[in-house]
Amino acid sequence: MSRPYISTELQEQLLADAGHLCGYCHSDERLSGISLSIEHIIPRIANDPTERENLWRSCRPCNEQKGGRIAAADPETGELMPLYNPRTQQWHEHFAWNIDGSLIEGRTSTGRATIAALQLNRPMLVATRRRWVRVGWHPLEEDLERS
Ligand SMILES: [Zn+2]
Repeated sequence: MSRPYISTELQEQLLADAGHLCGYCHSDERLSGISLSIEHIIPRIANDPTERENLWRSCRPCNEQKGGRIAAADPETGELMPLYNPRTQQWHEHFAWNIDGSLIEGRTSTGRATIAALQLNRPMLVATRRRWVRVGWHPLEEDLERS
């Protein structure tokens, strides 16, 4: 499947919608220095149009871990749950930072399933977050206020 063409206008709309944070792990591209990708929230089916409503910005590791999945098991219950949708759901309703800001914790079944499926607490990312915490760059104030 070839990559869809995403116009500059649509890319700008997505930046306005999503900001600089990965929709899943909330890593800030301005800290990592690695531009976020544009991902299809629901995997693209051949010939389906690429529309703003089904697009969000995510880091490459989250995008790759998600792959074509739309659901995963909640590790607590084993129940198959829809993955978190950054377009239609609120991050803070499904996720929270742990006390030192290095780990994402699931508040809901969907949150826990998404953490497991996308490996939102990847060891390398956790190590990076700990460094960001030490210099006061992470978590963001807005993330803490809603926790
Ligand atoms: Zn991510």
